[in-house]
Amino acid sequence: MSYEKQITLKDIGGYKEEKEEAARIIDFLKNYEEYTKKGAYLPKGILLLGTPGIGKTLFATAIANESGVPLITLNAEGQNLVGENLFNSINEVFQKAKKNVPCVLMLDEIGNFLPKNMGMGGSDRSTDILNLLLTTIDGLSNSEGILIVATANNSYEIDDALTRPGRLEKSIHLSMPTSEERAEICKLYLNKSELFSEVDPKELALRMGRMTGAMVKKVINEALIYAISNKDKKIHAEDFTPFIYSTVMNGVKKNNNEKDLDALAVHELGHFLCDYCLNGEVGDVSIEQFSSTAGSYRRLKEEERAVSSWSTIYKNIAVSLGGIAATEAILGEKHNGGSDDMRKAIFSVVAAAQSGLLGFNCLPKMRGALGEQYPTSPNFHPMLNAVLTGAYKSAYNVVRENKAFVEAVIDKLKTKKVILSKEMESLVNEHKVKTNMEMAKIKFPKGNAPMIVDDVRGSVFFSGTPEEINEIEEMINDMD
Ligand code: ATP
Repeated sequence: MSYEKQITLKDIGGYKEEKEEAARIIDFLKNYEEYTKKGAYLPKGILLLGTPGIGKTLFATAIANESGVPLITLNAEGQNLVGENLFNSINEVFQKAKKNVPCVLMLDEIGNFLPKNMGMGGSDRSTDILNLLLTTIDGLSNSEGILIVATANNSYEIDDALTRPGRLEKSIHLSMPTSEERAEICKLYLNKSELFSEVDPKELALRMGRMTGAMVKKVINEALIYAISNKDKKIHAEDFTPFIYSTVMNGVKKNNNEKDLDALAVHELGHFLCDYCLNGEVGDVSIEQFSSTAGSYRRLKEEERAVSSWSTIYKNIAVSLGGIAATEAILGEKHNGGSDDMRKAIFSVVAAAQSGLLGFNCLPKMRGALGEQYPTSPNFHPMLNAVLTGAYKSAYNVVRENKAFVEAVIDKLKTKKVILSKEMESLVNEHKVKTNMEMAKIKFPKGNAPMIVDDVRGSVFFSGTPEEINEIEEMINDMD
């Protein structure tokens, strides 16, 4: 990839620790002789891991640029390299690197040309490529001055042999930016134009939950094009909305059918109410329709924890089912527009069950590390049903209790299409919507006595009759 200007670490928003790591490598490359004289050796290679658009190429480029050494790149996919050509290109690129030491040799998207590291082997050709890489890397001496920077989307794409010490011995994993990191990325791109001077990067970042650096850059660029094409219009928070939604959801579509719009508004307000009443969260509500979805509810304060307790998951399942429950609670009928929500809810139950949260006698079908299958426990399906029913009941109650709120804001939502969280917050206060509503108890079918494990409190295991379970559940709820 060619970058338009000399990218340095300052052009990377967030990723403080990863930048510190990169700065150490840069210092080594810059002061190569001093480090080697004192006995240190340059790692032969590092592996940058992360989802597309997360900034792997950016890091590799910044390392090369700041070190003042050449960047030599091999991108098998970009250059359409396969078979013999790839074989030759790898040999050539290493030769070129040897002539340009010290240098950074970037092997971009290395997973594309390697056999998969999943105990299943790969084609003969990809195994040959792996062997070529291993022998070429082993043939380099540590004092050669070539730093290999390989990038890949996932670690499982990379054979363990490549990452052992002495080869690509350091891995830097670029995970999705946190909202603070995203705010720093936003700031970098917002600073490029005066037209953004009234936009708060922190607030914008919260609205861009789960976006990579590349997506953030795209949204801000689209907003800038919009501003320039509208006679240099100053941009405000709400101006970003269509670009954020279309980036996440790919393309806008129009539907002006009044009944559809009613159903959509009720559906999205249902998600909103459940999140507000059960979790105390306030998000943006939109009935703007995109090719992959109609309408949306987006929580502003994103959950950045890697683990969740069962009680949080259970409430979030109710939020997922809030749209379907709302159409029944408000319009008196169920609609077919909630299949994605239902899939999401079922996915959450399956994921919780897989990690043992619903007890070890409620495990769903799973595949082991060697590809072996474990069957579904007989208690899994009754449990799935009980959880979905409990969550749906909770969502239904939340919306029914707040019918007046839905009726009061539906026209506003239909007119504005998007109501941002700040305005939603004043609306819930104005209409005195309740927070901290209770979740319905999960009613386990008789004869099935699943255990529940709540990860956050450590190891609360219990099993017994439904009555006993309810009793223990009450005790746990009291501890919250
Ligand atoms: P791929 O796996 O698809 O090659 P990548 O992880 O290599 O993606 P990059 O090419 O480095 O991603 O980034 C894509 C674009 O996003 C770049 O233009 C880069 O400027 C921008 N970008 C990504 N992360 C950041 C960040 N943390 N700060 C600033 N810009 C970023």
